[in-house]
Amino acid sequence: MDCLGRQKRFQQTLGEQKLDAFVVTHAANLRYLCGYTGSNGLLLFVDGRRLFFTDGRYIEQAHEEVKGARVVIARGPLLPEAAKILAKAKSARIGFEADLTSVASAEQMKRAAPKGVRWKATTGLVMRQRMIKDEEELKLIRQAVKLGARVYEEAARSIRPGVSEVEVAGKLEFAARQAGADGMSFETIVAAGKRGALPHGRASGQPIPKRGFVVVDSGVILRGYCSDMTRTVHVGGAGRVERRWYEAVLEAQLVGLAAVRPGVMAGEVDEAVREVLRKANLDQYFTHSTGHGVGLEIHEPPRLGTKQEERLLPGMVITIEPGIYVAGRGGIRIEDMVAVTETGCEVLTPVTKELIEIETS
Ligand code: ZN
Ligand code: ZN
Repeated sequence: MDCLGRQKRFQQTLGEQKLDAFVVTHAANLRYLCGYTGSNGLLLFVDGRRLFFTDGRYIEQAHEEVKGARVVIARGPLLPEAAKILAKAKSARIGFEADLTSVASAEQMKRAAPKGVRWKATTGLVMRQRMIKDEEELKLIRQAVKLGARVYEEAARSIRPGVSEVEVAGKLEFAARQAGADGMSFETIVAAGKRGALPHGRASGQPIPKRGFVVVDSGVILRGYCSDMTRTVHVGGAGRVERRWYEAVLEAQLVGLAAVRPGVMAGEVDEAVREVLRKANLDQYFTHSTGHGVGLEIHEPPRLGTKQEERLLPGMVITIEPGIYVAGRGGIRIEDMVAVTETGCEVLTPVTKELIEIETS
């Protein structure tokens, strides 16, 4: 990992923000900036140096993982320890991640700070940098997506009436673990029949019914990076209306992919997708936003929702995932992960989106 390069770029941001020092405590930001994967860590940017604080439990791990920062093992809470360094430094304005710091920690920080220091609450400074993935991250994300796709395809073969949703989810998660995943990006969603109308219906003990759609939304974490994909299959033979619904969601998804390119606003992609479903008279069933960023965390900016003004840029990795949820009938969602490129986008998810119908004999 190019931690040093990331730290340098972040240092530049601090200059632009007129901050003399900065405290990072959010786990994904620590991993991104210095490679540390444990818990209870604090990365301090001060006077052009970086110091990494953790406690005795993580001595070995910190020395092994942390790049570009001197490791300091604290005896007590990390903040007061960092404050001792700040007391000796020339720092007057210290930034911290306000949106990722609890009120209690913020209070502790203020108490621990030496006189003459001003704390500056900031939001999203590290996240803005993380939003644009570097080459190495793109490589890791491609691998995570590939693995996620493979274990989905393996588990999808077990879908048939009578098999419980959790059984399908269990197969998927077991295959992911066997293949070396760190874990799942989120609790696997398998929602069959009427339960498919719950956009975030986790897998339940319910058996898959004789007829209906089955929505499977799943993702793995591989070497820290998340994957996220959804496919919807049909068991028992789709009727005319169901086929029409599926075709509409698929068309919306394809139009969404076609709209992804640098410079376009996230909200414009969302609107393009919504427009397809509006024309099919199905927009009232599309009850969430079109997509979200993915990386070290499963939900990252940008959010692709109505009127979102964030402009897409090369290196962003996002999902395009329209869906419709009809109470009492079921749901359909199709989700790919894509990387924004210089000219458009690269679809990362390598799984067919043609309607797969599972015969029941
Ligand atoms: Zn998903
Ligand atoms: Zn998603």
